Amino acid sequence: MIIVLRPDATEAQVNHIIEKVKVLGLSPHVSKGSERTIIGVIGPEDVLRITPLEVFPGVEKVIPVLSPYRLVSREFKKEDSVIDLGKGVKIGGKALVIMAGPCSIENIDRLYEIGRQVKKAGATVLRGGAFKPRTSPYSFQGLGKAGLQMLREVGSELDLVTVTEVMDARDVSLVADYADVLQIGCRNMQNFNLLKEVGVTKKPVLLKRGMASTVKDMLMSAEYILSGGNFSVILCERGIRTFEDSTRNTLDISAVAVTKQLSHLPIIVDPSHAAGKWGLVPSLAKAGVAAGCDGLIIEVHNHPEEAVSDGEQSLIPEKFSRLMAELKGIAGSVGREIL
Ligand code: PEP
Ligand code: MN
Repeated sequence: MIIVLRPDATEAQVNHIIEKVKVLGLSPHVSKGSERTIIGVIGPEDVLRITPLEVFPGVEKVIPVLSPYRLVSREFKKEDSVIDLGKGVKIGGKALVIMAGPCSIENIDRLYEIGRQVKKAGATVLRGGAFKPRTSPYSFQGLGKAGLQMLREVGSELDLVTVTEVMDARDVSLVADYADVLQIGCRNMQNFNLLKEVGVTKKPVLLKRGMASTVKDMLMSAEYILSGGNFSVILCERGIRTFEDSTRNTLDISAVAVTKQLSHLPIIVDPSHAAGKWGLVPSLAKAGVAAGCDGLIIEVHNHPEEAVSDGEQSLIPEKFSRLMAELKGIAGSVGREIL
């Protein structure tokens, strides 16, 4: 870290800070300029969280050199992480991974039908919620274990990777028994006990950005999972809350570029929950691919008017298929491909 002293810092104040730094087990390197003095400090920066050096008289600011997230950072790993989702699907490489399916699993026939249609259009991952985080306790809450069974059956019959949300730390082993990828929803991005629990599984985790979280908050949450031993984390930008009310959330497209700079982990875009309206989904999906995301997760329903959740933002299979065709050109122009 670098400690920048105030221009009027006295010799006694500087010496006091140097002593304090040494007591903390760090080594100070003083550099006296004509205007002001700075102290470069070598050693683990974690102490800064316990001893705020800013409070010492004479200190103007303390600049950490290392990011608080380590394992997820580019400093830790230069190359992009490529994560194996099983069934021959890898995310983080040249090929974009498209995840699609209904918001909620409703019944087996419908899941088969949607699964077949999204696969035909080029999706390799089937999404579908069995445990649904609903704003109202009176809204459909998901089929639970019965839904997980349907997802596993359809995924294995159609040879699609499956992803579904786990909302509660107590359900992690159940969901891990049925699904290939564990989704942490935006409302649970900072449920640290849940993050710790998925961190000790061997399943890839899809971590969605909280609707009021910064990119750094998201990376710190990912750090929980990696520090538990699970390095298979996929990040997801799904829109954040802003003053703009013409969309359900505001897709923070810059989060894709920022995350790519800061982290080696793959990041996908969810245009459905960002837009909240199916007519806007194609534009946001294209923007995500152009910005360099590693994949998309899109809600698709064959009868959106009958959907038990998020019908208004679900694409019908024909529109999804058309979007997939259009995305190929955009992917190619940014050095990626859709297989
Ligand atoms: C979902 O993907 O089904 C979902 C509920 O998303 P989010 O957590 O981003 O709202
Ligand atoms: Mn949904």
